[in-house]
Amino acid sequence: MKILVLNCGSSSLKYQLIDMDNEAVLAKGLCERIGIEGSKLTHKPEGKDKYEVESPMPDHKVAVQMVMDALVDPVHGVIADTKEISAVGHRVLHAGQVYSDSIVVNEDVKRVIRECFDLGPLHNPANLIGIEACEAAMPGVPNVAVFDTAFGQGMEEKAYMYAIPREYYEKYGIRRYGFHGTSHSFVSKEALKFGELDPKAGKVIVCHLGNGASISASIGGKCVDTSMGLTPLEGLIMGTRSGDVDPAVIQSICNKEGKTVNEVLDILNKKSGILGMSGISSDFRDVQKAQGEGDHNAHVAIEAFIYRVAKYIGAYVAAMNGVDAIAFTAGVGENDKPIRGAVCSYLGYLGVEIDDEKNKVRGERTMISTPASKVKVMVIPTNEELAIARETLALV
Ligand code: AMP
Repeated sequence: MKILVLNCGSSSLKYQLIDMDNEAVLAKGLCERIGIEGSKLTHKPEGKDKYEVESPMPDHKVAVQMVMDALVDPVHGVIADTKEISAVGHRVLHAGQVYSDSIVVNEDVKRVIRECFDLGPLHNPANLIGIEACEAAMPGVPNVAVFDTAFGQGMEEKAYMYAIPREYYEKYGIRRYGFHGTSHSFVSKEALKFGELDPKAGKVIVCHLGNGASISASIGGKCVDTSMGLTPLEGLIMGTRSGDVDPAVIQSICNKEGKTVNEVLDILNKKSGILGMSGISSDFRDVQKAQGEGDHNAHVAIEAFIYRVAKYIGAYVAAMNGVDAIAFTAGVGENDKPIRGAVCSYLGYLGVEIDDEKNKVRGERTMISTPASKVKVMVIPTNEELAIARETLALV
């Protein structure tokens, strides 16, 4: 059975066609600059050359059609007919408090996605257009919504409530939701298997460290806590996001610079994090290079990033009253030996011991702790597309 996975962002669309008989990726690609001048499709069929098409994509509907055309293209395609696609799995950002699991899309599901536009203003509208474009292009083929917020629905009230007047939760659903849920769910379950832990009681901390960064605590794959909140701004220091700040910082900048709250929020989302702290880049490699050349601000940015991850790990060990495994994933987590090593150097009190040789790994599932380590520390590459395809397969 072949499953198409779609991940629609505000101006982009990422896709993978996966053969679920062997979980092999048949083709993957990206539509960029949707709705902007200079739209481009980059299609990578397995075993064939990359194929690029520059053609206007006024909306996601046109982009979906271009993906279909590329998949069945006589030269660059990988299937003869779109009828070979049995189902489409969609990454959908926000389901509010309605869905804690993936679901086959019907009119009710679309209504919920629409009702959550204000909680996910950049993504939910694009996600819905992607679903409707697939309904139009492939009538009768089931669409499955896999929600980024589903994993966080496992949190108890004490973890998801903000300590603000309860009426805002009741009126507007203002609470912590958590994001990167597909990744945390996938990696935590893989960690349970890889670490040969109790599938129902194993305590796992997943550090998803990429341009967006978040951390989760889960027991038996069920979320206990996760660092992102109402929006992905809360929690760890990220490429361009500040993570946790005292909300009075916003008031202070507004007053001193004559900016609106929305303008300062934009700064906290897009110009902060290691970019804002270093003044150099949002890419860890650039900032580490500058750190190596003696740049003080770059050094502080990287040290603060590591320190915040370590603090959250400490908090999550307390939240779960223990931890069996810590798993690193995403761009930095999978590839960056010094950052993994530096985070773990804070964790000696937990009996964490890292094998320096094994920690050299990049992008491969590896146990990087020593056999004597009291906590299993591992690198587990995330694979959100495969996780979405598996969820889709299970439902259709
Ligand atoms: P992601 O958002 O998961 O794609 O992660 C992007 C971040 O991962 C960027 O800041 C990159 O600097 C970092 N990254 C990607 N590859 C490597 C690598 N080989 N070594 C160190 N950092 C990396």
